[in-house]
Amino acid sequence: MPLGGPFYLWPANLVSMSPSYEELLKKAYENITEIGDATKRFTVPEGKVFIEGKTTVLENFAEIADTLNRDPDHLMKYLLGELGTAGKIESGRAIFNGKFEKTYVNTIIKNYVAEYVMCSECGSPDTQLRKDGRVAVLRCDACGGHRPVKKRKASRGEEKTAKYTEGAEIEVEIQSISKRGDGVVKDGPYTMYVAGAKPGQKVKVRISRIAGSIIFTERL
Ligand SMILES: [Zn+2]
Repeated sequence: MPLGGPFYLWPANLVSMSPSYEELLKKAYENITEIGDATKRFTVPEGKVFIEGKTTVLENFAEIADTLNRDPDHLMKYLLGELGTAGKIESGRAIFNGKFEKTYVNTIIKNYVAEYVMCSECGSPDTQLRKDGRVAVLRCDACGGHRPVKKRKASRGEEKTAKYTEGAEIEVEIQSISKRGDGVVKDGPYTMYVAGAKPGQKVKVRISRIAGSIIFTERL
């Protein structure tokens, strides 16, 4: 079936109006450059902090965690630990008990970025926080570098449960005896085992391993 004249003109016009290959290529390169610049220009969003009653609100908490590409809970625990207070995440905002200066909150955020986001080898923020066994490791997507990160400070609420640390030398009084014949000390959620110790005996031990609420020791 033959096509009428007007049908030929329409596609011809469309071709002449579309951008040239060179123009498309230029546009594509511009887009690539923009992405590259964005990485170089990486800046930590400034925390929008204000006091509300007896609390301090970090308005753009979710945005900060998102920009840093970190788990909001991880960032929150760090902030709570550094501020030494309790708080909660609510509708993308972080709310801390107590009044804190804006500059102080922002300094803590900057410290978090230095410790848990920036690659110390190439300075790229393009990193991932991963667990390597029990050690948290920061891996860089840009240069492949990796380093262990510091254990975050325990917040006040956690200090109570963090009273035992591996390697610590302590004196304990054996309370009972396990089925295997080890001395047992129960303290809150913890059960400590001391080889060859009898109930009532006071012994010096070194904590060799903590597995959840179970504490293994060596006699000193
Ligand atoms: Zn790097």
